[in-house]
Amino acid sequence: MTTRSSILGLFPEALKAALADAGVPEKAVPMRTRQLWNWVYVHGARDFAAMTNLAKDFRAGMEERFSLARPELVTEQISTDGTRKWLLRSGGQEFETVFIPEPGRGTLCVSSQVGCTLNCRFCHTGTQKLVRNLTPTEIVGQVMVARDSLSDWPSTGENRRITNVVMMGMGEPLYNFDNVKAALAIVADGDALAFSKRRITLSTAGVVPMIRRAGEEIGSALAISLHAVRDDIRDVIVPLNKKYPLEALLEACRLYPGVSNARRITFEYVMLKGVNDSLGDARELVKRIAGIPAKINLIPFNPWPGAPYECSDWEQIEKFAEIVNRAGYASPVRTPRGRDIMAACGQLKSESLKQRASERHAQLRSAELARMPE
Ligand code: SAH
Repeated sequence: MTTRSSILGLFPEALKAALADAGVPEKAVPMRTRQLWNWVYVHGARDFAAMTNLAKDFRAGMEERFSLARPELVTEQISTDGTRKWLLRSGGQEFETVFIPEPGRGTLCVSSQVGCTLNCRFCHTGTQKLVRNLTPTEIVGQVMVARDSLSDWPSTGENRRITNVVMMGMGEPLYNFDNVKAALAIVADGDALAFSKRRITLSTAGVVPMIRRAGEEIGSALAISLHAVRDDIRDVIVPLNKKYPLEALLEACRLYPGVSNARRITFEYVMLKGVNDSLGDARELVKRIAGIPAKINLIPFNPWPGAPYECSDWEQIEKFAEIVNRAGYASPVRTPRGRDIMAACGQLKSESLKQRASERHAQLRSAELARMPE
């Protein structure tokens, strides 16, 4: 058996080189590249045979050498609230992607690594060691699997179900910069997956030296997992803070290329009971971010087995939000989504996946049943 290499996630230059290498005449390479690119990313073609306006010989030649394989779909789980989680496998590793439908929009939460190195105390992924970085093929592949599963092609059509992409799945995207950059270039290309850069958000725990480059070279919206406004607290819950403390992080935010009132930075703040949720913390928060065009996303802590924290009480979250609001910041409280299938923020961990197939099916069935009208 010959192993055919997937052309998903290849830049046009690399694709051109691959075509030339496959014997496509030099003159035809640019046109063939454009045609393939369009079939693959705008129309979501899953095999070359579907590309009916291309010469048969050319399609056959492509089929022999290349594949359009996505990561393998291991399971799809559907929450009672409509959130979907896909467990994917590629290169022997498993990772997760989550789709969160909301009225008028749909957000796809994409992973950048298998596991994570950061060990944030409240995050389930942080209890899993880093296994490896995901490749551009695997990152772009997550968006393509989601579009396949939701029948959400063509990319350039009206009323797409997936309207936003957030790099908020497993892993730290700025520790996998080159691959994330390559993948997001395809996600953002108007002739490819066609998401506007304003609808792509990269979330980081605060890899300060890479933030400026992210703005210059990726140009997406930026989210910061802030979670505390005192170094002594943040050192404990986001240990990366010991390397890049708050002052340096906030300075990088002030200097983020393109930041303005129209392009605000999102600060994510997980509400941990008795840890970071006092009203003093709220006041300190608005003081410290003064001058940064920002919105603040308060995230009720999502529990996982053995987690060392509890979610703040609802009244406390409301009081906290009120202080932030009164200081002039939008501070929506993020409704937990998909908790029943462990798809909510910070609940992803690819071990869930060592479950036996029979259990998975039972879970999927019960999710389906729960969605049936009474
Ligand atoms: N490493 C990046 C990308 C992960 S994004 C980052 O840290 O930003 C995932 C978001 O969910 C982060 O804001 C993370 O801090 C938050 N999160 C992690 N565990 C959580 C939990 N148990 N409950 C709520 N939010 C959590």
